[in-house]
Amino acid sequence: MPMFSPEIETLKPDAIREYQEERFVKVVKYAYERIPMYRRRFRENNVSPDDIKRLEDVPKVPFTYKDDLREHYPYGILAVPVAEIVRFHSSSGTTGTPTVVSYTRGDMKVWTTLMARALATAGVTSEDILQNTYGYGLFTGGLGYHYGAEALGCSVVPIGSGNTKRQLEIMKDFKTTVLCCTPSYATYLAEAAREAGIDPVRDLSLRIAMFGAEPWSEEQRKHIEMNLDLKAMDCYGMSELYGPGVAVECECQNGLHVWGDEFYVETIDPDTGEVLEPGEKGEMVITMLNREAMPLLRYRTRDICVINWDECPCGRSHPRIMRLAGRSDDMLIVGGVNVFPSQIESVLFDIPGIAPQYQIIVDRDILDRLYVKAEIDPEMWGSSAFDKDSFTGKVAENLRSILTIRARVELLAPGTIERTEGKAKRVIDLRKDTGLAR
Ligand SMILES: [Zn+2]
Repeated sequence: MPMFSPEIETLKPDAIREYQEERFVKVVKYAYERIPMYRRRFRENNVSPDDIKRLEDVPKVPFTYKDDLREHYPYGILAVPVAEIVRFHSSSGTTGTPTVVSYTRGDMKVWTTLMARALATAGVTSEDILQNTYGYGLFTGGLGYHYGAEALGCSVVPIGSGNTKRQLEIMKDFKTTVLCCTPSYATYLAEAAREAGIDPVRDLSLRIAMFGAEPWSEEQRKHIEMNLDLKAMDCYGMSELYGPGVAVECECQNGLHVWGDEFYVETIDPDTGEVLEPGEKGEMVITMLNREAMPLLRYRTRDICVINWDECPCGRSHPRIMRLAGRSDDMLIVGGVNVFPSQIESVLFDIPGIAPQYQIIVDRDILDRLYVKAEIDPEMWGSSAFDKDSFTGKVAENLRSILTIRARVELLAPGTIERTEGKAKRVIDLRKDTGLAR
């Protein structure tokens, strides 16, 4: 599979480290000189940029948090005058003050290159017809994929989100080969295709899906790959770190290559802040090595991962982050036990007869209560052998053995749970003051 930037993608790990060291020292000085927040934070921690001479000094540099972006809304962390900004993106602000991300012309060039590199790494080529269903606008997904795909030379269909019927028509008529969307929307598209009488194997030309923007399990991957007849590739990003394109799977599907020439990645113990060794599971912390407008130092992503520097058969030397176990923000504590929604998803997808639509509800009466609602697939629902009670018992037992706590299980008729055309609302935590679903 051709690489987009072969010289950089195959650099020796030592050369990557050397480059990272040189850039890290420079970006610390750059941020300190230009951004009052960093000057203040360095002083509070009794650190001077002159103390940062090599990568061993990295732990002395204070962390940056998402709340820092909120507190400095909208322009407070800019390292350049607003006149030098060519693009803004922003979070929706539904969960508090929005976070704004700003890009110089140079930043746009870097992001576009990273995204083109990510697409090529996942197996996309200039021959592909790419249907981009991520939202265009303040969200980074739509324009991020768009510019990267154009730079790679793909034929881009900029359809944006929503309008499932038209998505399927275009997919069929244009012979779309690459689909960019959330995994939950892919699941919905597969279902809608069947209802519209479209057989993905016979009628569609899809070969790759680029997924991101929400956590998904290995079981969901298998389900989508089978139902849409394509290869599902994981692409990680975060608007604070440009957007999509930070890390991506290669054809080996054995972790996501994170681009070491742009991102210095560490894992830390989220409670103590202590830096962990490669191979140890912890919170991913990222420093952007070349960002001009908003150089974030040691940004706390809240995502849990393991870093792996082992050689990859694809020939790329950049480290891999092994499939993200979940965002630490996504973790639910139910009756004192840590529960990741992705664990529940894995259990459900592993049971034949359960459809890929589910909802997790946590409530508190006197004790925490966990409800799992899942749909039965139409074939099982219509089968005379289907015994709802014993099936419910089986699902509950499988969940208990993985989660170690009891969940109340309710199995529903096909099509009962509300579908969304973007990120799915899988978890509803009624214990929170807002009572709103995430
Ligand atoms: Zn690889």
